[in-house]
Amino acid sequence: MLQTTSITETSEILQQNFDYTLFSWSKQKGISPIAVKYAKGVYLYDYDDKRYIDFSSGLMNVNIGHSNQRVTEAVVKQMQQVSFVTPSCATKVRGELGKKLAEITPGNLTKTLFTVCGATSIDNAIKLARLYTGRHKIIAKYRAYHGASYGAMSAGGDPRKLQSDSQQLPNIIHVEDPYCYRCPFGQTFGSCHYECASHVERIIEFEGPQNVAAILMEGESGSSGCIKYPPDYFKKIRALCDKHGILLIVDEVMSGFGRTGKWFGIENHGVMPDMIATAKGITSGYLPFGALIVSDTIASHFDDRVLMLGLTYSAHPVACAAALENLKVYEDENLIENAAAMGKYLEQRVEEMKAVHPSIGDFRNTGLLGCIEVVKNRDTKEPMAPFNASADEMAVMNKVAAKIKELGMYTFVRWNYIFIAPPLCINKEQIDEGLAIISEALKIADANTEHR
Ligand code: PLP
Repeated sequence: MLQTTSITETSEILQQNFDYTLFSWSKQKGISPIAVKYAKGVYLYDYDDKRYIDFSSGLMNVNIGHSNQRVTEAVVKQMQQVSFVTPSCATKVRGELGKKLAEITPGNLTKTLFTVCGATSIDNAIKLARLYTGRHKIIAKYRAYHGASYGAMSAGGDPRKLQSDSQQLPNIIHVEDPYCYRCPFGQTFGSCHYECASHVERIIEFEGPQNVAAILMEGESGSSGCIKYPPDYFKKIRALCDKHGILLIVDEVMSGFGRTGKWFGIENHGVMPDMIATAKGITSGYLPFGALIVSDTIASHFDDRVLMLGLTYSAHPVACAAALENLKVYEDENLIENAAAMGKYLEQRVEEMKAVHPSIGDFRNTGLLGCIEVVKNRDTKEPMAPFNASADEMAVMNKVAAKIKELGMYTFVRWNYIFIAPPLCINKEQIDEGLAIISEALKIADANTEHR
């Protein structure tokens, strides 16, 4: 009887979702979303009480874990006091959050423009870089996603934009990634000369350094495949910026707030950006929110000039309250230290899995931002599904993804990548539980390798 009730309830919920709402990035027919009833810590539960371990923290944003009631209580309290005032008003919580962000961001990044999501942080970063420098070109990477608004979408090179790129934002110049596993310059790390960085230098020369406002890159790569920057890459990029008066904008939407074992991904590279554009982990997704944090040098430029940027929901007091409490949770629960430690444990465990699974071509992670690259052949590195794979090319990976879901895991499987980016509160047992599921699903990929 109970079973029948939940089947009916689930199908009613799904039917209303299908009838009246649109699902992003999908054909509307043939999808089978999990109907989530509740969520706690690293787990999601459906209406049959089936438990799914969330190995991608939602969309790599639920960093503190699901349903932490401290954030709920802070939100309720703020709502009872002030639920909205225009961004031209001051609020206690806005100032406190700004101060906290100035404390945790590196160097002289001290002033924040609050936004509503990652894309609005990126759009405002691009505008601000242009306003500040008086230049127009932005250099960004092909294998990067910066959001779905027109500006952020144009800045990214992610193929999700290709269907609507005819009117994209002008003056974005894309460069190749420092993708060591598949070096676009045919080199091997260790014997190369950072051709990836000299490529950027040449592009700047071709484009005219005097026209380049900013270089925009993620603090650590995420949905493009956690492509790790080689050790000195960012230092070389910073040097190019300094040489030509170009700003360095770091997209910390996914890599920010402890995800990589530091407050911000860029801290793994020992360089100072001029701006950090962020979102996701700032509230752990509990409310939509974002931030553009800029250096005091950039901020003071607008002391006597109008800052021509704005959003109705900038510095939304309730979102500020969610963020402020969320940041305290990171500290009180030592989540950033845990992300670093669990990241190391993950590396060790996936290394062991490589011995059993010929389909694991590469595993790249920084803290708890990681992905397995699944291949048909380890020697040739032929991917199990290519970049921007068609439905047919996804046949094997779709089966792997379906198995993962069937076995009780929610994670992001894209092309030949399986993402491992769980909430930062995860423990070793839960990592083992998740890896056992991935290991079982990888047997399908193993059977499709040339080494089987
Ligand atoms: N930048 C990066 C690196 C992201 O991963 C994302 C989203 O996944 C964005 C920007 C866009 O963020 P939002 O979807 O909140 O606009």
